[in-house]
Amino acid sequence: MNITYACPTCHEGVRAEFDSKTCELSCPHCNGQIAVKSDAINENRIKRCLACPSTDLYVRKDFPQRIGVALVGIGIIGSSIAWYHTNLTWTFGILFATALADVLLYTLVGDALMCYRCDAQYRGVEEMDTHGQFDLETHEKHRQMAARIKSTPSA
Ligand SMILES: [Zn+2]
Ligand SMILES: [Zn+2]
Repeated sequence: MNITYACPTCHEGVRAEFDSKTCELSCPHCNGQIAVKSDAINENRIKRCLACPSTDLYVRKDFPQRIGVALVGIGIIGSSIAWYHTNLTWTFGILFATALADVLLYTLVGDALMCYRCDAQYRGVEEMDTHGQFDLETHEKHRQMAARIKSTPSA
């Protein structure tokens, strides 16, 4: 299993391998460490976020957004060029091919587990299904909580 998270100390992106025996995560940039709660990892399941105190996680398709957007762009540009040359076969051929590639990519990629609060990503975790799909209400709860923390003047 591995986690990708933003280090709370230096805000650099950190990717780290972990297993059920891991008791801390350390940042290669600033050596900042996060203690992993003993109940956070149960066998191959994650009970709570390792990088922040949140217990709310959700499952998301590990879909590379940029590739998806690029494919759609290629489809639109390619088919417009074919359309301009009044080549109907190519117009629809290109549109269809890029749409198909998009769908294929979506089916082939695995799932990733995400933290609502700190956006940490977990990959290679078994039994992700115990955490539901993205829930807007939970997301909103965490967003408001984060806004409140930010607006509180620090003493
Ligand atoms: Zn760091
Ligand atoms: Zn988190």
